[in-house]
Amino acid sequence: MLDQLRSIVQRVSATADLRESLRLIVEQVQDALAVQACSIYLRDPQGHRLWLCASHGLRERAIGQVSLAQDEGLVGLVATREEPLNVDRALDHPNYRYLAETGEEKYRSFLGVPIIHHRRVLGVLVVQRAQAQRFDESEEAFLITLSAQLSGTIAHSESTGDLAQLIHPEDPDSHETDLRGLPGAPGIAIGEAVIISPVADLFALDAPAARSVATELAEYRRAVEKTRHDIAALAQGLSGQISEQEQWLFTAYAQMLDDQSLGKEVKARIRAGAAAQAAWSAVIIAHVRQFETMQDSYLQERAADLRDLGRRVLAHMQESEQQQVAYPANAILVGEELSVATLGTVSAGRIAGLLSVQGSVNSHLAILARAMGIPTVLGIQGLRLERLRGQRLIVDGYSGHVYVAPTAEHLAHYRRVLAEDRQLLAELEGLRDAPAVTLDAHPIKLLVNTGLLADVRISLERGAEGVGLYRSEVPFFARQRFPTEEEQRQFYREQLLAFAPRPVVMRTLDVGGDKNLPYFPIDEANPFLGWRGIRITLDHPELFLAQLRAMLKASAGLRNLRILLPMISSLSELEMALELIERAHHELTAEEGLDIHPPRIGVMIEVPSAIFLARDLARRVDFLSVGSNDLTQYILAVDRNNSQVADLYQSMHPAVLAACYRVVRAAHAEGKIAGVCGELAGNPLGALLLLAMGYDSLSMNASNLLRVKALIRGSRLSELKQLLRHVLKLPDAESVRRVLNESITDPQLRRFAEMAPGLG
Ligand code: PEP
Ligand code: MG
Repeated sequence: MLDQLRSIVQRVSATADLRESLRLIVEQVQDALAVQACSIYLRDPQGHRLWLCASHGLRERAIGQVSLAQDEGLVGLVATREEPLNVDRALDHPNYRYLAETGEEKYRSFLGVPIIHHRRVLGVLVVQRAQAQRFDESEEAFLITLSAQLSGTIAHSESTGDLAQLIHPEDPDSHETDLRGLPGAPGIAIGEAVIISPVADLFALDAPAARSVATELAEYRRAVEKTRHDIAALAQGLSGQISEQEQWLFTAYAQMLDDQSLGKEVKARIRAGAAAQAAWSAVIIAHVRQFETMQDSYLQERAADLRDLGRRVLAHMQESEQQQVAYPANAILVGEELSVATLGTVSAGRIAGLLSVQGSVNSHLAILARAMGIPTVLGIQGLRLERLRGQRLIVDGYSGHVYVAPTAEHLAHYRRVLAEDRQLLAELEGLRDAPAVTLDAHPIKLLVNTGLLADVRISLERGAEGVGLYRSEVPFFARQRFPTEEEQRQFYREQLLAFAPRPVVMRTLDVGGDKNLPYFPIDEANPFLGWRGIRITLDHPELFLAQLRAMLKASAGLRNLRILLPMISSLSELEMALELIERAHHELTAEEGLDIHPPRIGVMIEVPSAIFLARDLARRVDFLSVGSNDLTQYILAVDRNNSQVADLYQSMHPAVLAACYRVVRAAHAEGKIAGVCGELAGNPLGALLLLAMGYDSLSMNASNLLRVKALIRGSRLSELKQLLRHVLKLPDAESVRRVLNESITDPQLRRFAEMAPGLG
């Protein structure tokens, strides 16, 4: 039976067309269970009716025509009770509903199982036999197992719009497709899809026969030179919009063409008799495959860079001039694998949004899109690009939703959101220089989280009082080796200078978990519980010391550096880290004679053990900073990147709030200050709670800063404290959110609270 199940599931998942998948299921199940009829009823996406979408045994012409109300007939009963129904005499059942078009009166026994995905009933799978005999337990178990395995495929067809089209092919409104991907860069874009196709196909190459070695080498060199030139022009086109640091991505790109890198292998193949085109694509494909098989998501992303580079060089060899596409004013670039380089080919003002089938939040594309403020959604599996050509799209970079051919209703809604977004921003800009104080004169420091240089400009424009979290690992990603101490010193200096005299909290290297460096791969079964953050840097004092020295040197004459230690889970880790900081400072001052002010040191509270050790930790340092993102993940045992459990990831869960409250009291009991630098701090409602708890500072994405400030300036600490007492007694995140929402009665403030992206 297991073999039959496996074979059905495998065949279905290999079929791209929904109608064909359903046909396969009913045919195979009929065969496997030796039943006379097998049918699938699916709910239309509006959830109004259950439609007969496939059948083997019922009349062909009933398929797509017959439907039942949600609670109608035996099928409706299965759907509403959300459990199997196994009856020997279906026609005698009180819920039996005769559907003349199907010709089902000849079948007496009925077994129906619900198709459920993430607690939602998507439809019902039914088998029927002529004789009046209950199905046995193993048959029931077979159908339940199959249904559970197929539910993901059916849910996916709902999200790609295939299901709506199957059920209502003639209804234009049903053609709106709601695709779900990963939010790559926040914001809303409404515009026209422009499909970016690869310029040359490495994988379907019809290479010409090789000419002389010299001719092939010359062709290869010419193509490489032209590609270098293209890359330089792209980088040039983006200068001013991205920082020098981000420009480095292009240098890395160009370096791959060097003789020490890919060039050597290609030339060797040409010398062995291959044509330039064939040699180039063989080398690229081999490297792409190698990257693709790696577990690490960051390295897999590098396969995308290689493919893009491969196509560019090949295109030059094929002399196929890159097509000049006329971009509409609100172009939403859509591609299987959009690359950083694509951004440079369109004048930035014309790009309203980006949509890439491949890619993750870690990708260079996402990093740059965030820096440039272009709403982006990534990682939409199963998307058929051709269907999108020239279509109107809404890209919701806050939630990861993309609406294709949106309904008039959705369009109106998002136009409103876009207009409100702009208007709110304009209104909020007036608060740039206003202090973050409550109506009853209680101040709190509002800081920003940074990593890219592009963040600096936005942060200063929004009136940040300093940096509460500089993610020092970000510049490490855009490289092919660890940056040297001097390279690090330079980019730290840029940050410190940009904000001086305002404080800049620099977190030491926090890699591992979902953040892997391309040149330092870590392969673990449970990376979030593995070698992460301080655990790595303590095991590699040479890396840690180089970073500490670079930070300290960068702070010479400025006095605004603070150092923050990530993932501390025990006192001994903290003590070892403090010793190394002390050592780096001593080397630079006592031994090298530099004049460097000792920085204030803080500990991130993001692991449950640190909550219970908070007082002991606070005693040894200057401040505590709560990383609510990881703290939520570890307290609730919910992977922050797993979409299966995304609804369980709640930073307003009572347990997370209780932990935050405990930490601030522990810090204050030791006479130390406490802040929050996870997403909770940038959530206007969360920020109010943290203020009421007594936190001294909140650090957030620059995009949320003015909203948070507006809410703080409209609130009274005395009232917030009362609210906090009430909230801390609530049973779940849902009620916390509701009570907080209800507490904001001013309509203007309510808008600021509602509009905030990323309400965790
Ligand atoms: C956190 O965990 O809340 C945090 C700020 O760090 P990161 O998101 O970089 O892990
Ligand atoms: Mg963290």
